[in-house]
Amino acid sequence: MTAPTRSAVVATAAPIPFFPPHLFETDRRALLDLVREVALDPSQRFILGHRTQEFERVLRESLGATDVVLCGSGTSALELVLTAMDIGPGDEVVVPAFGCAPLAASVINIGAVPVFADIEPHTMVADPDAMERCITPRTKALMPAHMFSVMADMPRFRALARRHGLRLVEDSAVAQGAVLGSTPAGLWGDAGVYSFVQVKSCGMPGEGGAIVTHDAELARRLRMLRNHGQDGRQRFVHHVVGRNSRFDEVQAAFQLHRFDGFPARLERRAAIAAHYTERFAPLADHGILAPPPGRDGRCHYVYCLLAEERDALRAHLTGAGVETHVYYPQPLPAQSAFARYARPGETWPRAEAASARILAIPVHHLLTDAQVEHIADSVSSFADGR
Ligand SMILES: *Cc1c(COP(=O)(O)O)cnc(C)c1O
Repeated sequence: MTAPTRSAVVATAAPIPFFPPHLFETDRRALLDLVREVALDPSQRFILGHRTQEFERVLRESLGATDVVLCGSGTSALELVLTAMDIGPGDEVVVPAFGCAPLAASVINIGAVPVFADIEPHTMVADPDAMERCITPRTKALMPAHMFSVMADMPRFRALARRHGLRLVEDSAVAQGAVLGSTPAGLWGDAGVYSFVQVKSCGMPGEGGAIVTHDAELARRLRMLRNHGQDGRQRFVHHVVGRNSRFDEVQAAFQLHRFDGFPARLERRAAIAAHYTERFAPLADHGILAPPPGRDGRCHYVYCLLAEERDALRAHLTGAGVETHVYYPQPLPAQSAFARYARPGETWPRAEAASARILAIPVHHLLTDAQVEHIADSVSSFADGR
């Protein structure tokens, strides 16, 4: 990347979109060919065929996992895992108070109750101490999530789950490719999940998810649950009440086609994030806090600042042609959908603070160096004025 410049900030010719509209453009020909190939394949398998099996094998071997089970979405992956763990009515699952809806909805949709734990103020992921305070005799699982630049503190969550005899579900939906110590995101708990929605780190043009695990028996149950309780040998023999959460063959073929390029795409995101963090270090005294620097346990699905004057910064960036997002404008227990699960009298001050200050700037791998500098200059020029 070129050296940072302090040029005057002017809007670039075209606004910089938060997510690139041309994400799959270089693979367009391959994708169209794969649609045709799957359509004309004599096997006429459009879901859970040999391409899905092959993508499962590639993921399993690249991760060193005991098993990988592909399914319909990241949300569905969470629901399948909780169901396979026999979690349901009367049970509680501790989740972060700050994050995306599936963290709470997946628990509620399998009949259990989400209990919201406050977060760490800087990294904005679940705080192990706060999660421990949420444990009751009804608690069955802890479900920390990696949301922003720094993975949740999985060594401590693993120790916490062991100490209390709880299952550990790792929501690594956005963190595919991240590694903490020498353990990939997804393999810290009893099971982890990935999402392949287009904007996630290994996204594709459609809906899909994965469960990764070292627990072979759990994986066997997951395979049945994702396909109406069948065991994959005999059709129309249903061993358990399952769901329809299957993986698409065109998407599997497309993921296989693009998988070799995944490390380079991640590396480009990491380089952009590291550059931002370096450039933004001096802004801490001006009300803008960047994520902590470092490479271990980092993920770069989005790059989030904590800004005292978030809305003014956002307006400034919009004026400079930089599209931003707020993940998330409210803590989960403050959402009307989930408010009834908030324990009376409980508060989540750090989640509240994060929702008022967080701002995500573009970090995707297709940004040009010039766009990265324009974004960094635009953030810096706002801080200079404070
Ligand atoms: C995207 C996401 C999910 C859900 O994945 P889908 O494939 O969209 O269902 C779950 N958890 C987190 C943290 C996510 O970011």
